[in-house]
Amino acid sequence: MPEGHSVHRIARQFERNIVGRRVAASSPQGRFAEGAVLLDGREAIGVRAVGKQMFLAYEGELWLRVHLGMYGAWDFSGEILVDPTIASANGRMGQTNQRGTVLDEPVLDAAGENSLASIGAPRRARVHVRMSEQTTGLPEDDAEWPPPVIGQVRLRLLTDLTCADLRGPTACQVQTPDEVQATIAKLGPDPLVDDPDEGEERFVSVVRRKPTPIGLLLMDQGVVSGIGNVYRAELLFRARLNPHTPGRDVPEDVVRGIWRDWVRLLRIGVETGQMMTMDDLSPEQWRAAMARRDDRHWVYHRAGLPCRVCGTAILLEEIAARKLYWCPSCQA
Ligand SMILES: [Zn+2]
Repeated sequence: MPEGHSVHRIARQFERNIVGRRVAASSPQGRFAEGAVLLDGREAIGVRAVGKQMFLAYEGELWLRVHLGMYGAWDFSGEILVDPTIASANGRMGQTNQRGTVLDEPVLDAAGENSLASIGAPRRARVHVRMSEQTTGLPEDDAEWPPPVIGQVRLRLLTDLTCADLRGPTACQVQTPDEVQATIAKLGPDPLVDDPDEGEERFVSVVRRKPTPIGLLLMDQGVVSGIGNVYRAELLFRARLNPHTPGRDVPEDVVRGIWRDWVRLLRIGVETGQMMTMDDLSPEQWRAAMARRDDRHWVYHRAGLPCRVCGTAILLEEIAARKLYWCPSCQA
């Protein structure tokens, strides 16, 4: 499931390639036909990501709200300008702000999690994305434009040069500005949207008065935005905190530490496209961790394997129908 870092990456791709342009909208699959008619031909004027949701503003006071949910993804094709802040999976700033040129080759994850062409639930990009330096102007002569529709495309957004196809979202709807405000008001703080200090105070005050286990509070988008199953498990391990501890029993300095850690990890996630949660890796370990999920987490997806710190077998349990991984010794 895409976590907050993916949605911020998508928003940056939209900022570069869709905002400021007139955008054709259609619903090849038909399930968003009425919404697409409302948006078709309008200019996109801004984009916001909050937690796991993206809001695209159009002229005429209309917004598109998209929540990818478990299976949603955006696929970009045609000419895409790669946002330099997300272009390098090495976390370095490559010279990537030329059209379609990636000079600093990222380490790509085998499962495609940090793809620049397909962002959301991991899947293979189905369409060609131009990344070569020779590219100027229009798509290749032999490339079909617009690209053929493949699979269940809920929404296709098309500019002169760029095509963005949305498949499998949990939510895709047109909202008024008031509706957008109401949606965002229900969401907990997002370190890349809210002032980090104010966000910290909001997070701490909510967590510290709840009897709910911290392992559930971190997944509650009304408490904090953008954390999913991977970041939840990793943040708790990094804090050496038992996931079943009621929020109100977690010491205040630990709650503050979790928020600050989330601020750090989210930034890394947006830059690299990976939920990189391990520190102090050698360059070799870093490359391995970027390439393989199994090499970049402390506890996530490591059920039964020895804890990287103490050797105890990592536990897997179901909590609120989601898998939770933790070390019963380090997080006693
Ligand atoms: Zn351990």
